[in-house]
Parts: sequence; C-alpha cells; structure tokens
Amino acid sequence: MCIAVFIWQSHPIYPFLLLLNRDEYHNRPTKPLAWWEGGEIVGGRDGLAGGTWLACTRGGRVAFLTNVREVKKQPLAKSRGDLPVRFLESKKNPMEFAEELVGEADQYNGFNLIIADLCSKTMVYITNRPEEDNLSITEVSAGVHVLSNARLDSPWPKCMRQNMIYGGEDRILWNHKSFTFKDAWESCSVSTPEVPWYDLVWNGGRPRWSVHGALILHNAVLTNDNLQRRGISLVSQCCFCGSNVENVNHLFVTCVYTSEVWCGLAHLFHWRFQKLHSAEVFATDMGIQFRTKSCRNKVFKMMFTATAYYLMNGMEGYIMIYLEFLPF
Ligand SMILES: [Zn+2]
Repeated sequence: MCIAVFIWQSHPIYPFLLLLNRDEYHNRPTKPLAWWEGGEIVGGRDGLAGGTWLACTRGGRVAFLTNVREVKKQPLAKSRGDLPVRFLESKKNPMEFAEELVGEADQYNGFNLIIADLCSKTMVYITNRPEEDNLSITEVSAGVHVLSNARLDSPWPKCMRQNMIYGGEDRILWNHKSFTFKDAWESCSVSTPEVPWYDLVWNGGRPRWSVHGALILHNAVLTNDNLQRRGISLVSQCCFCGSNVENVNHLFVTCVYTSEVWCGLAHLFHWRFQKLHSAEVFATDMGIQFRTKSCRNKVFKMMFTATAYYLMNGMEGYIMIYLEFLPF
C-alpha cells in the first residue's frame, strides 16, 4: 500500500475521511474487501502473509499501513501486515498499543502505521524509521495528512504531485467525456520544461537507444557511484580504460576511449567538439548545435543515441565497426 490521504477531525460532518491506494505486485495473491471470520473486522487481506494494509472494526477502530522504501531488507523480518490486525484485535487504545511495539521495532522492515479509535477521537502515527530512533510515536493532529513511503506528511514525490500537503489550490483533474489513456496520463502527469537535449535524444533512431540516452542523462544507470548511494558496494572499474572511476560522466565523456569516439564523430559531422566534464552539459551543447531538422542533423541524432547506447553497454566493438563503415 503506497499512498493515503486523510482528513482527521476537521470535516464538519465526518470525523475521518480516507483515500487510499495500495500499490502491490499484480501477482501477489489478495483477498478482496470482506468481513473476516467472526464478523468484527472488515478489510482486504494479503493472501500470502495473511495481514492487511487497511481494515477497521464495527466499534470504530481503524488501522492502515505503508512500507518505507529502502534497499536493505531483513529477509527474516516479521510481516508488517500483521500490525494492523494486532491493533484491531486488541483492546488497547492507540497509544497503549503503540507503546507495546517499542521493543519490537527491529523485528520489522521499515513501516508507517496509523491506528485510530473514532470513539475516543485518538489517532497515532508509528514508524520504525530512521532505525536510530527505534520507534517514533506521534499523536496525529486534526487536519489533512498525506502518507506515502516516507514519514507522515514528508514531501515524497507522489504527495508533492498531488499538491496536497502544501496548500496548493484545488484543480479539476478530470473533465473529459470519454476515457482514453492519453487523456488520463496528461491529466495526472506533471509537465516540466523541455531540456535542451530532448530532441537530440528522443528523435534519435531506435526507441531503445533513446530510452537509454535519457537514462544516462538523468544519471539513472547503475554505475558504481549510483550503486554506492543505494548501499551496494561492488568492485568495478571503467570497462574501457580500467580506471577505478565508474560514473556516468567518466563513461560518457571524460574517459580517454570515450573522448576518442566523440572526436571521431565530431570530425565526421564537422561539429565543434569541446571537451566537457559533465554528460549533461555535453549533451546540451550538442542539442543546441544540432537542433534544426536537417537531414544531416537527423543522422547525427541517430549516431549520437546509438553511440551512447553502445558505449554505456560496453560494446565498443560495434562502435568501431560502424565508424569504419560510415559512408562519409
Ligand atoms: Zn575509462
């Protein structure tokens, strides 16, 4: 379950309003909304571990849960989906139940749990991240709140996109008579200014090359530096020159081998080649130089994305072959 927006004790009629979407792998077995055995609890149920992401009782107790996104996971951790069930089955008030969990924080992977009792107007937020804090317990104040895969009300991208927690103005998201995926996507996606290398990358030949080019320029490929940021340590080196530096800027522009390849292309296309140290600045420079839609520029864009693709996949053999056989 990955995003919840809720209004607590600040609506004129309803004490609690909740909008919640569970993001889960489609092939994970799930039981739909139903009254559970005994007829006291209603909710969906995870078919694998038996827990839930959202459920409530006849008596007005509610619990819902999100995971905290993290790279390292304890393989033998207890199922987080048990926590809402335990609260709903217990007789404790939200604060007493939260205190019961204090000694167990390290037995679960990262979670955000909200538990509430509508009768006593109490709602408590519990999280076991960051780990140093053991277990953080906070009484939830009246108002509008957003919970995703980081702490309650933190500016996680999905929450920001919905403009929910920073007092953004209300806006109409859907105003179409018929449904198309294009309209739906355009209604909810965020449009950002076009980058100067947009045309260079996205009008450059095969889709696979373009996608790869965009990943490189967004620094979203699994080079050593990016892996280390995610807590993964590998002994790797540049596959061209053997240096210990393995990051996008090195592989794409500053490596001795890569520079030579770009010099070759610059020579063929009569292109002002200047040695730059950042992949993005380099692509921006080329995007500006080759922005018009001439035939020569079209060929260049194709060469650019193909070169980027083969360089970053360590397929230098292909680059040498096509540079040698170019009809220029
Ligand atoms: Zn290198």
